[in-house]
Amino acid sequence: MCGIIGYTTRKNNSVEVALSGLKNLEYRGYDSSGIAFFDGEKMDIIKSKGKISNLDDKLSNFNTNSCCAIAHTRWATHGEPNETNAHPHQVGKVTLVHNGIIENYSVLKDELLKNGYTFKSETDTEVAAAYLDYCYSKTQDKLQALVDACKAFRGSYAFDVVYEDEPTTIYATRKDSPLVIGYSHDGNFAASDISAILNYTNKYSLIEEGEFVKVTKDIVTFYNKDLHEIEKKSETATWDAAQYQKNGYEHFMLKEIYEQPKAISDIFNRYYTNCSYKDLDFSKFDKIHIVACGSAMHASLVGKYLLQTYGKIPVMVEIASEYRYSEELITPSTLLIVVSQSGETADTLAALRLAKEKGAYVVGIVNAVGSTIAREVDKCIYTYAGPEIAVATTKGYTSQVAVFSTLALMAMEQKGLLDKNIEKLIKNDMLNIEEKINSVISNREKYLEIANQIYKHNDLFFIGRGIDSTVCMEGSLKLKEISYMHSESYSAGELKHGTISLIDKGTPVISIATDEKLFEKTVSNIKETKARGSFSIFVTTENHIDNCDEFADEVIILPKATDFTEPILTVIALQLVAYETAKLRGCDIDKPRNLAKSVTVE
Ligand code: GLU
Repeated sequence: MCGIIGYTTRKNNSVEVALSGLKNLEYRGYDSSGIAFFDGEKMDIIKSKGKISNLDDKLSNFNTNSCCAIAHTRWATHGEPNETNAHPHQVGKVTLVHNGIIENYSVLKDELLKNGYTFKSETDTEVAAAYLDYCYSKTQDKLQALVDACKAFRGSYAFDVVYEDEPTTIYATRKDSPLVIGYSHDGNFAASDISAILNYTNKYSLIEEGEFVKVTKDIVTFYNKDLHEIEKKSETATWDAAQYQKNGYEHFMLKEIYEQPKAISDIFNRYYTNCSYKDLDFSKFDKIHIVACGSAMHASLVGKYLLQTYGKIPVMVEIASEYRYSEELITPSTLLIVVSQSGETADTLAALRLAKEKGAYVVGIVNAVGSTIAREVDKCIYTYAGPEIAVATTKGYTSQVAVFSTLALMAMEQKGLLDKNIEKLIKNDMLNIEEKINSVISNREKYLEIANQIYKHNDLFFIGRGIDSTVCMEGSLKLKEISYMHSESYSAGELKHGTISLIDKGTPVISIATDEKLFEKTVSNIKETKARGSFSIFVTTENHIDNCDEFADEVIILPKATDFTEPILTVIALQLVAYETAKLRGCDIDKPRNLAKSVTVE
């Protein structure tokens, strides 16, 4: 998942600029980092374990005047996070940084060992560097060597490469990992995404799979796979650098929670005024598959509930990495909806490509404009939620749910299932969402009070039925990700079939009951846990609070809404409980251990 940035400039500040860009990529991985820069004679390499701030501290001991640098923040796939395994890797005349996995690295390594190469690290990336050096020693042509090496590599990669005998030029290419070229007044960039360069420029070009780029301080030249020069348009980024700052909030996660009222109401307002996907015709498909990972998969489960219950279309939700095992169910009359905040999720991308091969029509729900998934789907629905920096998603998830709500509404409309009164109710609900979310957020004292009751526990359960059970899954994941508490999400009716044996005196159970039809049954399940000593935290709507003292030790009261917006309100309360709990436990909220935001490896 790593972040990479290369910068070559007419000035002497490439290290400073690359490092500041790298900090904006830290969400992509942060177990170690490193930088290589041309010191006027040779490439110097400095690496450090842990966060980029460690590298920054280390660099203060060196003279870093340099006109060309390549830098990397790592999320280890091959070899533990230590200085030796950190990038850049240098072999022979080649220094490079890599995002991705070279799947056949051990075969290539054997070939290189026979040819006299030796290795210091455990990484696939060092093998890639050696193989490129090997190809260069044979062809003596830098672009051709890169083409030859990439032909031998299986897997995914984005590379920034500097050759020893041309130390101020960066060569770059990509396959299944993102890479953009940036153009600034003083020089040019090759980086994982535009967040890395926005402090210096908003002009960029995307590199397509299999293209090669030569980046010098003055000029950028693009080549196709046959090394014929190609023309490339430059684009202007709409996100600006200020969106990458905390703007006074203690954490990015908190800032992003507070951005939800606007992000969600924008989606609903766009739906009613200027909807770009109204032409999606559900009657063309006999079934819908929704494919995603992590929180996007949880948003998809809400989508399934709404499309199936209200739109009356059969829906299957599959975890992206498992979708290939359902291959035989994909037909040309399948609508596949893929969901990915970053638009770069490797597992989801693989599922998308498989479905396209099988002739399915593919719609993407994506936040990052111009990302790989956005470009490869037949139709892209952007959530336009703006950059999300905290690794644990908040507005990314709720904006996906909001898009699903509008799709379910469209399906109802197209099938003649939307009676006027319901239509009015839902519209009213959607167009007043901002105020309702604000009222949920304003209840922060309650969330802190609950966090204080649960933060010392090691195990916790979420239970709910129907649409509430899908929200439980996201609430539980949020808590696990950022507080490292063990938490499980269970369908309320299923608990008694085994897991209830884990409920003990004081075990916190967070139950959600917003669905009118299921309320009584859920309450019975809560009582079953209470009878076994649970500490019961009850999440419900304002019309359901009478008599809940019997089974609830704490109550979170939400505004009443339809199923088309209630899951959004519910999950925001759970996001804030998770946030306050993680804070009390002293966790690194924006950068939880072992995680990275954009998962570009399968
Ligand atoms: N495979 C490389 C490593 O472990 C890069 C990892 C990645 O991009 O996720 O160092």
